Amino acid sequence: MGLSTLEKILAVLKEEFYLEENSTEVEKTPDEKGEKLRLLEERCRKCEKCNLYKTARNLVFSDGDHNSKLVFVGEAPGEEEDLQGKPFVGRAGRLLTSVLEEYGVKRESVYICNILKHRPPENRNPDVEEVAVCSPYLVEQLMIIKPLLVVTLGNYSTKFLLNTREGISSLRGALKKSPLGYNVLPTYHPAAVLRNINLMDEFRTDIKKALEFIEKGAD
Ligand code: SF4
Repeated sequence: MGLSTLEKILAVLKEEFYLEENSTEVEKTPDEKGEKLRLLEERCRKCEKCNLYKTARNLVFSDGDHNSKLVFVGEAPGEEEDLQGKPFVGRAGRLLTSVLEEYGVKRESVYICNILKHRPPENRNPDVEEVAVCSPYLVEQLMIIKPLLVVTLGNYSTKFLLNTREGISSLRGALKKSPLGYNVLPTYHPAAVLRNINLMDEFRTDIKKALEFIEKGAD
């Protein structure tokens, strides 16, 4: 069986020193994190590794607090995100924001991003090659931020970060470990919840579980 995208990325990063640097356990200061993320964002802005930059209006790198212990990862920007250059600001994003607020958490206090940094035309699904070439940017983002928990929103980010073919319905709500070393809690993409409101209770339960995990871990 061939290597998965995540395994290939891990092998390359290891060769290129990043994991050794990461393993020193030296905490980056907020300023260092911000600067590293700014440089990474600049690289994404100049990126031409796939064709999506040609049709996208804006780069959609991230939103929120890079010092947060909690990171949300979706799959790709949609139309509103492409217009504003921010992830999760359309209807699905507003749903995520409102569920966070139900539990007293402001959206600005968490970090939100996607696997793909440019919008696929007509909101089509990311293709395998796009995920393969763009996902190393996500891996670098996470290595800089070092979150306590990553909540994967939907099938794409869940399958990628857990290196699995299992679907979101069977994985959601259970804490897992990514091969990258991060705690991962998969849940539905809020767009899926909008399409099927019966998923709302499970989505709320998962977000609550993620926030409780952070609260306990942050003690
Ligand atoms: S989607 Fe990712 S890989 Fe493709 S051009 Fe944008 S930043 Fe580069």
